[in-house]
Amino acid sequence: MNLNRVCDLRIPNTVLDPTLDFLRAAGQGGYEGFVVWGGRLLDDTTLAFTSCYVPKQTAHKTASGLLVTVDGEALFNMNRAFYNQGEVAAGQVHSHPTDAYHSETDDHFPLVTLAGALSLVIPDFATHGREAIDRWAWYRLVGEGVWAPAAVTGTRIHLESQGG
Ligand SMILES: [Zn+2]
Repeated sequence: MNLNRVCDLRIPNTVLDPTLDFLRAAGQGGYEGFVVWGGRLLDDTTLAFTSCYVPKQTAHKTASGLLVTVDGEALFNMNRAFYNQGEVAAGQVHSHPTDAYHSETDDHFPLVTLAGALSLVIPDFATHGREAIDRWAWYRLVGEGVWAPAAVTGTRIHLESQGG
């Protein structure tokens, strides 16, 4: 299975809100956070994200910057949870202390590896919530270790209005 044909991504508030809450809480301690979104295909080209999963993770502050690691057992538990819910791990979201972009580490050590998966990076430890959405960085996995800006791939992101 892959998501290569998917061009419409639906992100409900039930997935986005807890994601931002977790990333903001991690940021208050000065750490990046990492969540994974489970999704279901609605048809060939439309994927709906349906759950937000916080894998057991370790946040590090190193001389060269911040880093989050998730061990193999935690990844296994995560994928089993998605499988039991009839979902696939179709997207990952993590925070950065300042600007949002895909670093070399982000490119090569993703938590989701399904072709066509989404990776979203949120700036400023998600402090500004959706108000900073113009600075969020969206990517799709287009090849082994290769992430392209979602706009380049023709991806359309469908968010719910807040409170709606
Ligand atoms: Zn990163």
